[in-house]
Parts: sequence; C-alpha cells; structure tokens
Amino acid sequence: MAEIRLENVSKRYTEDKRTMYAVREVNLTITQGEFVFLIGSSGAGKSTLLQLIGSEIYPDEGVVYLNDVNIARLIGPWRTRATRSFGIVNQQCQLIRKRTIGDNLLLAANAGGMLRRSKSRQAVKKALGIVGLPGVETYYPAELSIGECRRVELARALINSPPLLLLDELTANLDDDNIWDLMHLLNELNTRGTTIVMATHASQYVNIMRRRVVTLVDGRVAGDVKNGKYGDIV
Ligand code: ADP
Repeated sequence: MAEIRLENVSKRYTEDKRTMYAVREVNLTITQGEFVFLIGSSGAGKSTLLQLIGSEIYPDEGVVYLNDVNIARLIGPWRTRATRSFGIVNQQCQLIRKRTIGDNLLLAANAGGMLRRSKSRQAVKKALGIVGLPGVETYYPAELSIGECRRVELARALINSPPLLLLDELTANLDDDNIWDLMHLLNELNTRGTTIVMATHASQYVNIMRRRVVTLVDGRVAGDVKNGKYGDIV
C-alpha cells in the first residue's frame, strides 16, 4: 500500500539571481490503485512534481507524506524501504549503455535490496516478461528500438514490484502502436492494483482512457478531474 499526500508543497529554483517556483502550494492526495495523468505545458512543473513524490528531491515548503510519514525526515534503512515503494521512469534514459539489459535490471534489483542472485535473475525474467520482451537479457540498450528501450525502463521500474509507478513522458517520441501497447500494459498493471502517476502530452490517449487528470499551470494545480479529459479544468 502507498498513499501519497502533498500538503502545501512548493519547490523553487534560483537561476541568475532570479527565484522561480517550479511547483507552488500543491495539495494532492493519491490513493492506492489510482491512475493519474499529470498534464500541462512544458515547464508547468510535471517532472518536478514527480520528483517530489518519488523523494528524488525535497520541498522547500510543505510536506510530502507516504502513508502519513514525512518522507523528507526518513534516513538510512527507513528511507531505503520508503523508496522501494516507487518505480520510477525518468524523462532521460537511465539505462547504462555499456551494460547488457540483464545487468541493468540486476543492478536495479540489487539496489532495491534483492541480494540473492537466483532471486534477482528470476525477477529480471519476470519483469521483462510483463513488458513483453522476454529473452532480451543479453542485448545492449543500443541494440533495441526506442519503444523497446522504454519497455525495458518500465521493466526496470517494476523489478522490485513497487505499489506505485511514477512515469515521466514514458511515451514521448514513440509511434501510435507503441504508445497504445504501453497504455494497454499500464492499464493492466493498474487493474492488478499498481498506482500509476504519469506525466504525458499524449492527449488522445488521455481522452480515450478517461482516468483522473491533474493539470498543472505555472506549478499550481489548475484542474483535478476524475474520468477527465486533456484540458479539463475544474
Ligand atoms: P515540466 O516537466 O512540466 O516540463 P519541470 O518540472 O521540468 O516542468 O520544470 C518546471 C520549471 O522549473 C521550469 O521552468 C524549469 O526550467 C524549472 N526547473 C526544473 N528543474 C530545475 C533545476 N534543476 N534547476 C533550475 N530550474 C529547474
């Protein structure tokens, strides 16, 4: 189980002596099993919000709670355990180019605390099976198509069976067939109980899937609509 609650969360950056808010006074609760599309124009704060939820960065103001615990306060093993709640796919490819797909996923399994080699190999096989790429362990990232690479990154995020997936532009630069396949897969994972929070520009798929749509404008939540469509602001 993983319930996320953001209370008055703000994150600011200073560049050239100018301070600007990437995320501003956000209040948001995401309960286990939800499927949330995070939308907004470029620079609206989607990636920053995902990083705050996944505790990759911490708020300057406000608190991010994971199951009622302030994640920023956690240290050592408590922090490690909390971060295992998140399967994260960032906008930039996180795969190590000089390592095989199998090694990339094994590293993620080990980082998540899976230390027995036989168990982690099994987990790699299972994760690649889920994303529809069985048997690619010996390939290198450059040998795969963009669509396959994004699936491998999803497998990497799934390796420790996290209750919550945080996906930043997973479908960017993919053709319609690949986007549709990935959306179908995410829908299936969500049906089985995984919470999904996904930043996306793929408006037509958001409109077809009719899930919760949270819209950011200048770092603030401008819309939060159940069964929503792209651009709904209520
Ligand atoms: P989106 O994902 O919606 O495109 P981002 O969260 O990436 O938006 O960025 C929101 C704003 O915060 C942008 O103006 C961006 O330039 C700024 N920003 C994000 N990360 C940083 C950073 N590490 N340093 C400085 N500014 C940043």
